[in-house]
Amino acid sequence: MEIQFFNSLGRRKESFIPLEKGKVGIYSCGPTVYATPHIGNFRAFIFADLLRRSLEFLGFAVKHVMNVTDVGHLVSDGNEGEDKLEKGAAREGISPLEVARKYEDEFLRDLQKLNILKPHQLPRASEHIDEQIELIKKLESKGFTYETSDGIYFDTSKFENYGKLSGQKMEEKVAGARVEVNSEKRNPADFALWKFCVGENANHVLRWDFETASDLSNKKQKSEIENLKSKIGFPGWHLECSAMSQKYLGETFDIHTGGVDHIPVHHENEIAQSEAATGKKFVSYWLHNEFLTVDGGKMSKSLGNLFTLEDLQKKDFEPPAFRYFCLNSNYRGKLNFSWEALTNAQNSLQNLRKIYQNLPDGAIDDAAVEKFGAALADDLNSPQALAVVWDFAKSPAANRTTLAKFDEVLGLDLGRVEKVEKIAISAAQKKQLAIRKTARAEKDFAKSDAIRDEFLAAGFEIEDARDGEQIVKRKTA
Ligand code: AMP
Ligand code: ZN
Repeated sequence: MEIQFFNSLGRRKESFIPLEKGKVGIYSCGPTVYATPHIGNFRAFIFADLLRRSLEFLGFAVKHVMNVTDVGHLVSDGNEGEDKLEKGAAREGISPLEVARKYEDEFLRDLQKLNILKPHQLPRASEHIDEQIELIKKLESKGFTYETSDGIYFDTSKFENYGKLSGQKMEEKVAGARVEVNSEKRNPADFALWKFCVGENANHVLRWDFETASDLSNKKQKSEIENLKSKIGFPGWHLECSAMSQKYLGETFDIHTGGVDHIPVHHENEIAQSEAATGKKFVSYWLHNEFLTVDGGKMSKSLGNLFTLEDLQKKDFEPPAFRYFCLNSNYRGKLNFSWEALTNAQNSLQNLRKIYQNLPDGAIDDAAVEKFGAALADDLNSPQALAVVWDFAKSPAANRTTLAKFDEVLGLDLGRVEKVEKIAISAAQKKQLAIRKTARAEKDFAKSDAIRDEFLAAGFEIEDARDGEQIVKRKTA
């Protein structure tokens, strides 16, 4: 079956041909682990998971690599400002690496809840400093770098095809670039490969000696002058992805993913660093997901309009409902989040489960599998794939075995059976339950949450059944 992907490089649909027959290497830009990831981030990771699972469904052996950014990502997303991890550390009164591990754990927990398969490799930036320094030295030896008083920079004017991914001309980049205080840069688009521990980063906790790559993070800190002399510092954000993708997937690999926000800077810079160093093409296919929005605006930490998976669960939504919500729209279009839309997704999912659980086992339906695969092969058309699933589920040919095969890609836990244990409750509790039911119907979640919390405090959990009934269970540890 011919597979087509929309390649951001060239901005058109192309036939997918992997470098090596039957095998695919995928690199996904992963989380910056300085705060709880929001569901916008998870749209990006659900999309990467859909890509991986679809290719596996279509017969490929996939190797999926995703980085974990635990050093070097500055709050400006550019070359200036504090490191997000250091800021998190100051906020929480713990060390940057403690912050990183805490939020990496949260990220991994939520991946699992959303049935996102764990990538085969999840390399951390702070554990690949040798590789990053080696890459800078290679770029230095080829004349692509220069030093300023605060770091080592990549000279974008030396890289002929700079801007080829976003299609922006250098002049447009110049016009669009934010004004930086660092006037020592030769070109506005130039970016830091290595930041020295000077100025606003003088006290940066995570630090390495550039010449020897030795870790100085827990050593007695030196003066700014000494820091400069031995180029003590930390890597620029973009560098990790070039160094780690090369290490785990080779100098050229098949597919790179990320959100559309990464196209104009982060991915442009990854291409420049990698191709300048190796002299080879970096990536064959660039796939980008559009944003999850709220009232039309990007969900983001800086806009303060974000929700976490926990926020959804507090309102009694199950995580796979968010997965269904994402899969029901194409990854290349914006997706607006609302509680109403999520409610619809949860209802659809629960109806599909009900159908699944009442069906007999049977032989795999080849015609349905073919249609399902064709939808995925058409640039991961997951809404179309779901339409195929529904058509099949409602057809006389429907059987559970075929739907279970579809669920290998969808990851919706179609077989999940809720364990229901009804227990005796008091008259007062019954009354509260009735009030909660009305509150939920009126979408007064503050009230329904408060009642749920009352029950929790008394050692009872309320579970909302598919038919709207509220089931009370004893709280388990
Ligand atoms: P970050 O942790 O900020 O480095 O982002 C991790 C991934 O989430 C990146 O691929 C981003 O492009 C993506 N991302 C961030 N915000 C959104 C959003 N609102 N919708 C979809 N993807 C997003
Ligand atoms: Zn990246």
